[in-house]
Amino acid sequence: MNRDELRARAAALVPDGMPVGGVWREAADGASFGVEDPATLDELIRVPDASATDGAEALDACVAAQAEWAATAPRQRSELLRAAYDAILDERDALAALMTAEMGKPLDQARGEVTYAAEFFRWFSEEAVRIEGRWSVAPSGGHDAVVVPQAVGPCLLITPWNFPLAMGARKLAPALAAGCTAVLKPAPQTPLSSLALAAILERVGVPSGVVNVVTTTDAASVVGALLEDPRLRKLSFTGSTAVGKLLLRGAADNVLRTSMELGGNAPFIVCEDADLDIAVEGAMMAKLRNMGEACTAANRFYVHDALADRFVDAFAERMAAQVVGSGFDPDVDLGPLIDADAVAKVDRLLGDAFDRGASLVREPRAVPDVGHFVAPRVLLDVPDTAAMSCEEIFGPVAAIHRFVADDEAIAAANDTEHGLVGYVFSQDRARGRRYVWELETGMVGLNKGVVSDPAAPFGGIKQSGIGREGSHEGIAEYLELKYVAEA
Ligand code: NAP
Repeated sequence: MNRDELRARAAALVPDGMPVGGVWREAADGASFGVEDPATLDELIRVPDASATDGAEALDACVAAQAEWAATAPRQRSELLRAAYDAILDERDALAALMTAEMGKPLDQARGEVTYAAEFFRWFSEEAVRIEGRWSVAPSGGHDAVVVPQAVGPCLLITPWNFPLAMGARKLAPALAAGCTAVLKPAPQTPLSSLALAAILERVGVPSGVVNVVTTTDAASVVGALLEDPRLRKLSFTGSTAVGKLLLRGAADNVLRTSMELGGNAPFIVCEDADLDIAVEGAMMAKLRNMGEACTAANRFYVHDALADRFVDAFAERMAAQVVGSGFDPDVDLGPLIDADAVAKVDRLLGDAFDRGASLVREPRAVPDVGHFVAPRVLLDVPDTAAMSCEEIFGPVAAIHRFVADDEAIAAANDTEHGLVGYVFSQDRARGRRYVWELETGMVGLNKGVVSDPAAPFGGIKQSGIGREGSHEGIAEYLELKYVAEA
């Protein structure tokens, strides 16, 4: 398929409107907003701009469908999820093109994300039939203790724009496996992948009202009203720590179950005994996957003094060789950032670092004039006080710090309120193990620059989140435990 055929196929995946209660409809007040292609700045399509009224109707649909859906046989839910896995993979190229169009990532990375997203449906199709309770005789002997897992109930799932398909899949698949209904609110920059996913779920037979999508530019009103509605039982959010805190406060009044996948500030540590080639390869993955727009992106590089010059030379050479342009161009390594605000943020962080004495290792290549493009850069001598040492860069910029003692690297790595993931490169097992134990993060990449795996528990500690997605733990986020004391 050529690029135009691919785009046409991608467009065909997105029905008009948004699915609420099994009907694809416009916003109640007829409002709509445009979705921008970040590489061309063209408007791709317009989608409904939902208000609080639409959000309430989506929750009405969840509530109406909840009891019947929760009562379906686990095998039935399992087989629907398995059918979704197959259907997503059948549309892999078109879904990837849709994602490249709305978000910018290169097509091969978008294809990888489609596979990753599909895997959550396969994994949770397998988990749906393994939801287990337990039985025991109470220690007193006076009764039996029976523990029964039950679906939490209607869920609100809020996702960011950086992994438009996978973030929704990572929530919807376990929610559906557990027997929950959902309102999915995607980011306004990238609603199309979520709409396409909902259409696929409908096509494979997920009943009306079980999955509802509200696309909106007014998240605060739509989400605010849903959080106040006592019928909502669960909030699962992926996004920034700042918004996560706001939503946790909003969720407090109704004491909602919450799962929070929040921001990161990942340290990437290269020890003196690291294999240089493996460390550079890991750095490229951890820094440049998704143009650096990943919560797991390496944000602070700590490199042992003995290896630093060689690491920086090799890494900066690879970074400078990256081709930046449209994600539809097969020769392109890096697509655009998501929007003008993202480019402005990277510019601000670069300006601040240079003002504080940082230096650029190599001049970057020119990038296209039109579109939200940013060239990859490696910076040296970035002080700990620089904004990019504390904030997520969310762009293709690597800040290198040198260290001498492991204690120093561990202390610096942990000196953040975030705790999502850390990366360590060392050939010494004992040293690697020490880092694994002492890093204050929910995940560690040991000699590996990517950690994501649907079968592993993804999530952070400290201000990077609450709960886990994927793995056996992922379904527990959507289950309540009911204890029965039986005479
Ligand atoms: P964001 O600004 O926090 O937005 C995330 C989602 O929340 C969007 O759908 C957004 O919609 C919505 N939102 C924003 N303000 C809201 C409010 N007041 N009430 C209700 N909803 C609201 O984050 P982002 O810029 O899209 O995504 C990047 C962030 O996500 C980074 O911090 C990244 O680390 C994090 N992330 C974390 C993980 C993880 O698994 N830990 C994975 C991916 C991304 P609007 O844009 O319309 O406001």
